[in-house]
Amino acid sequence: VPRDSHDALAPYLDRFVDSDGMLAYLDGNSLGRPLKATAPRLAAFVEQSWGGRLIRGWDEDWMGLGERVGDRIGASCLGAAAGQTVVGDSTSVLLYKLIHAALRLRPDRRVIVAARDDFPTDRYVVAGIAEERGLELRWVESAAHVDEIAHDVALVLLSAVAYRSGYLADVPALTRLAHDSGALVLWDLCHSVGVVPTELDAWGVDLAVGCTYKYLNGGPGSPAFAYVAEALLPELRQPIHGWLGTDRPFEMGRAYEPADGIRRMLSGTPPVIGMLAMHDMLDLIDEVGLAAIRQKSVALTQYAIELVDARIPDAVLATPRDAGRRGGHITIDHPAFVDAVPRLWEQGVLPDFRAPDGIRLGLSPLSTSYDEVEVGVEAIARAI
Ligand SMILES: *Cc1c(COP(=O)(O)O)cnc(C)c1O
Repeated sequence: VPRDSHDALAPYLDRFVDSDGMLAYLDGNSLGRPLKATAPRLAAFVEQSWGGRLIRGWDEDWMGLGERVGDRIGASCLGAAAGQTVVGDSTSVLLYKLIHAALRLRPDRRVIVAARDDFPTDRYVVAGIAEERGLELRWVESAAHVDEIAHDVALVLLSAVAYRSGYLADVPALTRLAHDSGALVLWDLCHSVGVVPTELDAWGVDLAVGCTYKYLNGGPGSPAFAYVAEALLPELRQPIHGWLGTDRPFEMGRAYEPADGIRRMLSGTPPVIGMLAMHDMLDLIDEVGLAAIRQKSVALTQYAIELVDARIPDAVLATPRDAGRRGGHITIDHPAFVDAVPRLWEQGVLPDFRAPDGIRLGLSPLSTSYDEVEVGVEAIARAI
């Protein structure tokens, strides 16, 4: 395929670990591939940091790791100045903490807006909190359907890129809309961080969360990040009052006193090993630049759509054709896909199946070639 030979980013494909028997990896939005640099990084950590420094490592290095990695993600991917982003728990737990914290900041309002097309954990967590606190949950179909926010809304919870359709929300416009009615906004960036340029500070975003094992290649179960705009931090209270969310945990104080800064989002011991691998992808993102990554991302999804139109014309594209409203993956629907996907996996072609009848092609720009996209779509066409 000539496209790879014209791709200025093609040389970076070689930075990723080869996977035996894999013809097309189309799931980089679900679990990013490891970089070759990651194995020596992990080995050095075991031998030098953990093995060499032992308990001293906490004071010397690890205790502040969540804040330091948070600042890195903020600078490289989020347009967030230092001191507002921290890495710690899973996305699900950070959603729980931030939704509670947001509701405390709007005590007189009793409505939360959320989207039916959002990822299950987002819907489950917000529904659980609404039930627990007796609040009204007002569902919209998707971020595309939000054109007004009522004055009784405390919080708007949306994903910047929808996990199934790939719809890319107009984050700055929807943030302004929420603010115009006095609501706070919490953006889930799981499917946009590392692939869609984002300017949280400039857009005035209040709160955000996101995964690190997708386009940030942190590895299975690597911890998520939370962002809290500086202006909200002094008042922000999250509900899990752990010792490591305080400024001086080793004073073993009588009562919880939240840390002054973003550290107050934390609760327990930082998942240090889980925060190592993402450094390699952040290094690579800094080397290439998010603008170039987004450019290739748009070209890859465009190419996938052209191939699907030509080779699987009876599949229905669930993703916007307008590149400006599309994230880094596409989803196509066809009743035969449910039976086709296990056979594709056996052949070494790895897309995602998304119920009820969708195939999701996640095209992580730095680790996916145009050739893989073609091999993948060709295999899907044959499999049905
Ligand atoms: C992947 C993803 C999650 C995953 O949450 P975990 O707590 O890490 O399992 C949550 N929300 C969205 C939108 C996602 O894409």
